[in-house]
Amino acid sequence: MVVAEGVRKNFGRLEVLKGIDLTVQAGEVCCILGPSGSGKSTFLRCLNHLEKIDGGRLSVNGQLVGYRQVGNRLHELPEREIVAQRREIGMVFQRFNLFPHLTALENVLEGPLHVKGEPRGEAVAQAHRLLERVGLAEKADTYPGQLSGGQQQRVAIARALAMRPTVMLFDEPTSALDPELVGEVLDVMKDLAREGMTMIVVTHEIGFAREVATRLVFMDGGTVIEEGDPASVLDDPQHARTRAFLSKVL
Ligand code: ATP
Ligand code: MG
Repeated sequence: MVVAEGVRKNFGRLEVLKGIDLTVQAGEVCCILGPSGSGKSTFLRCLNHLEKIDGGRLSVNGQLVGYRQVGNRLHELPEREIVAQRREIGMVFQRFNLFPHLTALENVLEGPLHVKGEPRGEAVAQAHRLLERVGLAEKADTYPGQLSGGQQQRVAIARALAMRPTVMLFDEPTSALDPELVGEVLDVMKDLAREGMTMIVVTHEIGFAREVATRLVFMDGGTVIEEGDPASVLDDPQHARTRAFLSKVL
């Protein structure tokens, strides 16, 4: 479960998040929509403590992200504990960021072997299962350069899942893909949602949001303008800014 309370983030004088309140329960799929520059990626990065917040509170599974509270004061966690927290959270980006010199299987194995120190036999068996789950069992020994964008993104999802995260964050996972490859990635994400994974997905795929999201959030200018169940936000937006945005993407 993810809870944001009044989360603020500035870059210099630029206020990028102006007090984000959002609760995502375990098993929910929360889709975030919003115009470019509205702070969507920054918010996801804060959830991983890749960006430090300047105000408010952020917690994942009941633990403050990046800090420990002692009395009224917050102390930043030591790096090793931040790394441990990040393992709870899988992240998939627009660009797949696979290691080009490693095969699909080795990419999936990297985290379990070198970060978690799992025994090789178990890690390999799990990596094969994960590649099968994303429909790429036969591509285990293929290098990223020989895979399509959609296949690479599915390897990236398998790689994130290999760390056994409790929450998965997706930042426009299909927007760098050719249109005919979008569906195969969304299908993998739909399966994950059905299996009960807690997901926060920044996307412009309205069809996916309508079908899969349990909640839709519309962000603009660093604030949550509107949120609710997908059908109501999409079909009956209450806010002029949501209507203006939807009229451009629908
Ligand atoms: P997009 O839809 O284009 O991906 P977004 O909603 O994800 O946009 P962010 O990437 O979160 O938007 O950026 C929000 C604002 O913060 C933008 O004005 C951006 O220029 C600024 N910003 C993001 N990262 C940094 C940074 N590291 N340093 C300075 N400004 C930044
Ligand atoms: Mg972004």
